[in-house]
Amino acid sequence: MTEHPALRGVVRTYAELYDLQHDAELSDVLTCKSPATGDPVGMSFLVPKDAGDLARRREGFRAWAGHSLGFLGRTGDYLNSALMALSQAGPWFAQADPAYAGNIAAYFGKVREQDLLTTHTLIPPQANRAAASVAQVVDGRALSAHVVSEDDNGIVVRGARMLATIGPIADELLVFPSTVLRGTAEDTPYSFAFAINCDAPGLRFICREGMDYGRDHPLGGRFDEVDAVVVFDDVHVPWERVFMLGHPELCNAFYTDTSAVAHMTHQVLVRTLTKTETYLGLLSLITEAIGIEQFTHIQEDLAEVIVMQGILRGLLRAAEADAAPNAYGVFTPAWEPLNVARNWYPKVSQQLPALVRKFGASGLMAIPAEDDVTGGAAGDVGRYLQSATLSGPERVRLFRLAWDASASAFGGRQTLYEYYFFGDPVRMAGALLKATDREPVKARVREFLARTTAQHTAPPPTAG
Ligand SMILES: Cc1cc2nc3c(=O)[nH]c(=O)nc-3n(C[C@H](O)[C@H](O)[C@H](O)COP(=O)(O)OP(=O)(O)OC[C@H]3O[C@@H](n4cnc5c(N)ncnc54)[C@H](O)[C@@H]3O)c2cc1C
Repeated sequence: MTEHPALRGVVRTYAELYDLQHDAELSDVLTCKSPATGDPVGMSFLVPKDAGDLARRREGFRAWAGHSLGFLGRTGDYLNSALMALSQAGPWFAQADPAYAGNIAAYFGKVREQDLLTTHTLIPPQANRAAASVAQVVDGRALSAHVVSEDDNGIVVRGARMLATIGPIADELLVFPSTVLRGTAEDTPYSFAFAINCDAPGLRFICREGMDYGRDHPLGGRFDEVDAVVVFDDVHVPWERVFMLGHPELCNAFYTDTSAVAHMTHQVLVRTLTKTETYLGLLSLITEAIGIEQFTHIQEDLAEVIVMQGILRGLLRAAEADAAPNAYGVFTPAWEPLNVARNWYPKVSQQLPALVRKFGASGLMAIPAEDDVTGGAAGDVGRYLQSATLSGPERVRLFRLAWDASASAFGGRQTLYEYYFFGDPVRMAGALLKATDREPVKARVREFLARTTAQHTAPPPTAG
């Protein structure tokens, strides 16, 4: 992994993130004390008990997100946050089996103490979305990962899950519920949550092509989190790594009832805010470089990004200001602002690379490679690619970054990632609608209609 051309860049960047935990200036921000040993462990393992703890977690998220400009989606703090919340929800897991409560708590302790990097895989293969997930069957064989047998030592899983980002470089794979299960007996083999080593026998990752094309690709060369299809070829999962089995209704409530979704979204909101700030910086440098900031439509676009950044900051602040302990004593950010952010950002974030393309125009293609900039073409680059504020080489480097953030293979994958990584925005919108009590606002409008009708049917006041 550390040498493979598709992986070495992102592996190096992840290593830098872990090294930052040892940086004298950042260790207080990025680590807290292990409740087991008193030694430093990652800040995202902190179980928050009050507003101060939540703020410490946020600052830890911010430090890591800042290192990747918000372009890394699977830094360990994302799923550590889920595991933190799950580990505290013992009584919820005990509804299915008290052993599961112990398993998730012990697993969280292991991940925390060993600082393991986890990733997750949720959705079934995309064979036929007109059929239920359990019915992704071809030639009589079920495609989706399912439990085929149980024995004294654990369960055996066969089939596939569609995707796991960073699967090949992570230590551990969390195979958790996602698609809403209907709760029928047929769903039972598909209802589970467990964790497995990424090098477990029978577990295979089929990676997409790498988008790390080297040093001329400032983002792809550092942050390409390779995505992979996950195949379970009769993978044996020991019982102590099983957290839920055969309870479709509990699987459907896995993230919400435990507050895992709130803590994950807290991390996501910090990352997406960081990324939005990065785009504002990048767009501003482009307008400055080529002298386009005086055009009013450019100003209007920049103002839109400032508004986007302000809305994200406001939602983050509201989520923390209205935080409260959940049923298990975990101080949890308020869900409403987080839910608004996760429904809104996937759509509006699509504008960010589009604005880079709009502002950069042909500049995004006039980006000779570093060897040309410093080699035989240096004279031409210096003369013809200089800009209002930058030398030729400086301008090329800025525009290469702009291109990688908007139009390269890496940029395209980022745009897709922001749209889909937290689920299908269309179905999330449906869920938001279902979860929102609109009766009070409907009542207000009905009351007004009744009021105006009564006013208009009342006899006009008589003079004197
Ligand atoms: C870059 C990237 C990285 C990802 N990384 C991970 C990962 O690490 N782990 C992981 O588990 N997942 C990952 N995902 C998957 C992500 O969770 C899914 O993309 C998302 O949930 C949507 O599911 P789908 O891709 O199967 O789309 P589909 O469900 O196949 O949808 C395709 C289209 O059909 C529409 N559609 C399908 N079914 C319905 C329906 N019932 N109602 C209305 N419309 C419907 C959708 O709106 C969409 O337009 C990743 C995705 C991307 C793009």
